[in-house]
Amino acid sequence: MPYELLIDGALIDGASSIEVVNPASGRAFASAPRADEGQALQAIAAAKRAFPGWAALGFAERSRRLHELAEAIRLRVDDFARLLTQEQGKPLKEARQEVLGAVAALTYYAPLTLQPRVLRETPTERIIEQRYPLGVVAAITPWNYPLLLLMVKLAPALITGNTVIAKPAPTTPLTTLLLGEVASGILPPGVFQTLVDQNDLGALLSRHPDVAHVSFTGSTPTGRKVLGSAADTLKRFTLELGGNDAAIILDDADIAKVAPRIFGGATTNAGQICLAVKRVYVPNSMIDALCAELVRLAGEAVVGDGLEQGTTIGPIQNRAQFEKVLGFIEDARAQGTIVAGGKALAGDGYFIAPTIVRDLPDDARLVREEQFGPVLPVLGYDDLEDAIGRANDSEYGLGGTVWTSNIDRGIAVASRIESGTVWVNKHLELPFDVPFGGAKQSGIGRQQGIEGMEDFTQPRIVNVALG
Ligand code: NAD
Repeated sequence: MPYELLIDGALIDGASSIEVVNPASGRAFASAPRADEGQALQAIAAAKRAFPGWAALGFAERSRRLHELAEAIRLRVDDFARLLTQEQGKPLKEARQEVLGAVAALTYYAPLTLQPRVLRETPTERIIEQRYPLGVVAAITPWNYPLLLLMVKLAPALITGNTVIAKPAPTTPLTTLLLGEVASGILPPGVFQTLVDQNDLGALLSRHPDVAHVSFTGSTPTGRKVLGSAADTLKRFTLELGGNDAAIILDDADIAKVAPRIFGGATTNAGQICLAVKRVYVPNSMIDALCAELVRLAGEAVVGDGLEQGTTIGPIQNRAQFEKVLGFIEDARAQGTIVAGGKALAGDGYFIAPTIVRDLPDDARLVREEQFGPVLPVLGYDDLEDAIGRANDSEYGLGGTVWTSNIDRGIAVASRIESGTVWVNKHLELPFDVPFGGAKQSGIGRQQGIEGMEDFTQPRIVNVALG
C-alpha cells in the first residue's frame, strides 16, 4: 500500500513525492508523498477548525482516544519496527524498543489531567490558576528517533486539547506516515495530521500565525531559525537541540565496569543520540586501561544492516551525515591517534566502524563540535577541577555523566555540570514522568513530565472577589 499524508481526516497523495533511502543499502526502498505549500496551509486550516471541538471533548474522552491509539500501534509493533529499521537503520531490536517506547509515552500521558489550582482562598477572595490548550501545534522532528521524539510531543499536546501537525525529517518520513494511517480511524479529522517535506515546510509552520506552538527537536542551527520565525507572532515554542555531552570518569571508578557503559553510550543508534557520550574525560593514569577496553569493545561490535540478526550498530542514517562523520574522523586522524575503527565499511551502506580517538587537543573539531556518529574522543586529565572546567567549556549543555564508586563525590561533580540532565553511574534513562531539556544552546523549554504537558497550555489566573 502506498504511503499517504493525513490531512483533514483523509489519507491523500502528496503534490509530489520523495524517494526514501535505506541507509543499510544506500538505495531507495520506498516513495513518500511530499506536501507542497498549499497542502501545508490546508493542514493548518483543518487543525484550526478541529481545535475547538477537540478541546471541548475534555480529558476523559481525549484519554479514551489516546489509549485506543496506543493499542492500535501496539498491535502493529512489528510493522512499525521493521519500517523504522529500514528508514532509520537502527537494529530491529532497538527499533522495537522505540515503538514500544512511543506506546509507553502515549499510555503515560493518556490518563493525566491538568486541574485548576487554587492559589489563594480567603473570606474575601479566591485566586485560581487554570490552564487551557494553545491551539495548533507543529511537531517538527529529526531523523534519529522519528517515532519516539514525535510521541513525546504528540501525547502531551493531544491530551491537553491541542491539535497537532507532525513534520518528520525528509529522510525518515515513513513511520510518521504509518502513524497517521493508524490514527486516521481513531482521532477526529484535523486533530492529528502528517506533512512530509524536503526541509522546506518547517519554516512555513513556524512562522504561520495560526500555529500557536512549535515543538522542535533538531540541530542547534535549525533551532535558531525556528526561534527567529516564531518571533513575529510571539509564538510559544520548545527547542530540544544538539549536545556535546561529557562523560567524566573519576579516579575511583572501576574501568572494567564503566567502559561498556561509555562504549554503549557513544555508539547506540550509531552514536546518533542527542544525549550520547560525545567526549570522555578520564584521569591520565587510567587512560591506557580505558582505551584498551574501548578498543576491545569496538572489535566485538557487529556493524551491519539492522534487519540482520546479531547487528549491534547500524548505519549512519543519511549520506550527508555519513560524510560529515567521516570528515570528523579525517580531522581527528590529523590531530590525534585513532586506536580503533577510523573508516567506513566497504559497500553502499553508510556504515562507519566504531572509532576511538586519543591524544586530541581540546580545540579539535571532534572535541568542540557535535559528531553525531560512532566516533569517541578520549581525553586525559590530572586535576578534577580542570576536567569539570573543560566539560563545561561548551556552548552546549544537554546531558552528561559522572562515573565513580563514591556516590557523594559523583553527586558533587554532577552538581557542577552546566546541563539539563546529568546521570551518575547510569545513562540514557529518560522516564516519562521526569522533565527533560537543555541548558545553554542545547534548548529552551521542557518535555516530558507534567512540565511537558504544561508547555502546551496557557496559564490563566482567575481572581475573584468574594462576599
Ligand atoms: P535538523 O535541525 O537538520 O532537522 C530537524 C527538523 O527540522 C527536520 O524535520 C527538518 O526538516 C526541520 N527543518 C529544517 N529547516 C527548518 C526550518 N527553517 N524551520 C523549521 N524546521 C526546519 O536536525 P537533524 O539533523 O534532523 O537532527 C539531528 C540533530 O537533532 C542533532 O543536533 C541532535 O543532537 C538533535 N537532537 C536533539 C534532541 C533533543 O531532545 N535535544 C533529540 C534528538 C536529536
